[in-house]
Amino acid sequence: MDVLDSDVVIVGAGPVGLMLAGELRLGGADVVVVERRTEPTTESRASTLHARTMEILAARGLLDRFGSLPHHTMGHFGGIPLDLTLPGPYPGQWKAPQVRTEAILQDWALSLGARLRRGHELTALTLHPDAVEAQVSGPAGPLRISARYVVGCDGEHSTVRRLLGAQFPGQDAGRELIRADIDGIDIPARHFQRLERGLAIAARNPQGVTRVMVHEFDGPAGHRTGDPEFADIRDAWRRVTGEDISHGTPIWVNAFGDASRRLAAYRHGRVLFAGDAAHQQMPIGGQALNLGLQDAVNLGWKLALHLTGRAPDNLLDTYHAERHAVGRRVLGNINAQAALLLGGPEVNPLRAVLAELITHEPARRHLAGMISGLDIRYDVDASGHPLLGARLAHDHPMRSGRGLLIDAYGDPEHHALLRATAAPWADRVDTVAAEPDSLGPLPGPDAVLVRPDGHVAWIASAGPPGPQPLVAALHTWCGGPAHPGHTRTTTGHHTPVERRHDMSRLNGKTALVTGSSRGIGRGIATRLAREGALVAVHCSTGVPTAEEVVASIEKEGGRAFVVQAELGVPGDVHELFLALEQGLKERTGSADLDIVVNNAGVMGGVSVEDTTPEKFDRLFAVNARAPFFVIQRALTNLTEGGRIINISSGLTRVANPDEIAYAMSKGALEQIALHFARFLAPRGITVNSVAPGITRNGSPVFDIPEAVEQMAQLSAFGRVGEPQDVADVVAFLASDDARWVTGAFIDASGGTLLG
Ligand code: NAP
Repeated sequence: MDVLDSDVVIVGAGPVGLMLAGELRLGGADVVVVERRTEPTTESRASTLHARTMEILAARGLLDRFGSLPHHTMGHFGGIPLDLTLPGPYPGQWKAPQVRTEAILQDWALSLGARLRRGHELTALTLHPDAVEAQVSGPAGPLRISARYVVGCDGEHSTVRRLLGAQFPGQDAGRELIRADIDGIDIPARHFQRLERGLAIAARNPQGVTRVMVHEFDGPAGHRTGDPEFADIRDAWRRVTGEDISHGTPIWVNAFGDASRRLAAYRHGRVLFAGDAAHQQMPIGGQALNLGLQDAVNLGWKLALHLTGRAPDNLLDTYHAERHAVGRRVLGNINAQAALLLGGPEVNPLRAVLAELITHEPARRHLAGMISGLDIRYDVDASGHPLLGARLAHDHPMRSGRGLLIDAYGDPEHHALLRATAAPWADRVDTVAAEPDSLGPLPGPDAVLVRPDGHVAWIASAGPPGPQPLVAALHTWCGGPAHPGHTRTTTGHHTPVERRHDMSRLNGKTALVTGSSRGIGRGIATRLAREGALVAVHCSTGVPTAEEVVASIEKEGGRAFVVQAELGVPGDVHELFLALEQGLKERTGSADLDIVVNNAGVMGGVSVEDTTPEKFDRLFAVNARAPFFVIQRALTNLTEGGRIINISSGLTRVANPDEIAYAMSKGALEQIALHFARFLAPRGITVNSVAPGITRNGSPVFDIPEAVEQMAQLSAFGRVGEPQDVADVVAFLASDDARWVTGAFIDASGGTLLG
């Protein structure tokens, strides 16, 4: 039997499962999604995206992928027209076929590294104290997936729920709506038309197909086992409207009832639920899909932080606390709408009163807030204001799925205090600057902390940031400040995956390693990828070897891509960044860069007499000029708390007449650490130099035992260095553990400089 390890198994590759997969990947968790269907669905059941979901998709940079979407400001509440307009960038409701939404979310999740297994059906779940085992049957036979958490995103008839025996309390369907797409009929359009015997809806699409929906006030209870026949809708339509549609050709017919159920707990230890697996409701007003997507976005970052060992103890439990309450409210409004829509003549007076109330602005806004999801308030903080958070997230995209501290202080002292307070959380929270008074109506907040799901967790208004409330909010939502040892917990799996769990300090980070097609650079790229970073493997002419490096990283479960550009020639850095930014955007949705390792270099190996001006210039162009301009160009990409590491050489400390120009170029390179460290400290970026001694780089000289013997004597340890010896030092400097080291020269020469 095949065996797979992962942090999380998601059951169900519908929109909710795929959204969750992407969110978990952004947070650095391993994800496998298993899906019973071999192909994505072709039925577009849910097509409405409400304002809050639109804001989330925009914040993750996903909205562009949809192109322009049809949009209406008018919706309805139980069939009573309701203007959904509220302040915000996406007022009203937007239409995207579910197949399109699913395809976009699938591409996104896969590009972030989620693994999707279609044609795989969950058959059993075994819960252990520290793991969950999912038995899955797939096209190639049974598969066992060992994970730390399972999330059921497998819809109304959830297998995960059934296998767990989880309670799904609520009410059975008492009424049903039958619907069909019918070709070849020409009947009048009806918009939520209540007639004497029932409700009728008919709308013809531009292709001439008519969507017909009918409910009979004294019709059947609505708990069918299979889909209805065309005869059922034909007869019901005739009874309600008097019209004959029997000559039409049905494309499909189905029915849904007004059952309303919600799990008592969205979390059962290591098993969680999101979307329709957690709550069943009538699909009125397109709220079900939106509710599910928002469940996923609430859960993803919390579960990822929990898995990486950085979450406060109760963070994962806030998923149930927050979303169960939202589910109750949404199911409540859906039940109210079902009563208004499907009730008989006895609900007419109620409808009349409500229609009157909706003409009053506060009542309209109240209902619009409920339907659009813009009224969701979590108990994050006394001053928490999610609507504000949603808008801020729109102005400051949160593609990385990390928290966001938006700093609009005009006063430099307040500005510095805020940043210093948040610096220990730089691995989880990005700090961005905003114009003073740009965060809201005057007098606006001076700074806000936004959770990864766009909800505001802390607001500073008028005066200094007040470090204590900010620190408290950071502790509540992000966990303790980063410190050595406070890294990801292990799974206890005795597999190669376990090794990755132990070394995951760079999960969610992106890195450029110049000259990593071979030698020390290859060692560094491999090590950073093992730590979880997405690595750009750069080379000049060695594309095939760079591709080999990427393949070997991917084989180990890491993520990398090749960028090619010759350094030391005009336009070098521009070309490098064109390829780099494209590669990053394709995989992460942004060009953010966390780590730059300037490793590419050329040796001299020529005597003083043979050093021509051309050779001298070439050494400086590749070893000193290129790194300077790489850093200059990366300034806009580098994230708060970023890392710059320049690979120098022990030859800046040991005399060698054949390497004077080379040593001079490395001496110039070392100046970068000193001066850039000061320049970039306000952004929490560290800049350091690492100086290897003689290191085995694949050059033929290392195949000559006598030569190796001689070189080994230079090190205090009596051996030559391995790329791994240097890569380990670079990985440390790249990690949060080295946040207090900047402007330093690190001797990584195995004691060669001791003399
Ligand atoms: P290496 O094996 O010679 O590999 C050099 C790497 O840099 C290759 O990936 C190469 O790409 C790339 N590169 C070279 N020139 C380039 C250019 N003009 N433009 C773009 N890429 C270029 O190097 P290494 O020995 O591992 O050394 C790595 C770094 O450590 C260098 O900065 C070196 O000075 C320093 N260092 C090495 C030692 C040592 O003993 N190995 C000791 C001290 C310091 P292609 O494959 O495309 O050519």
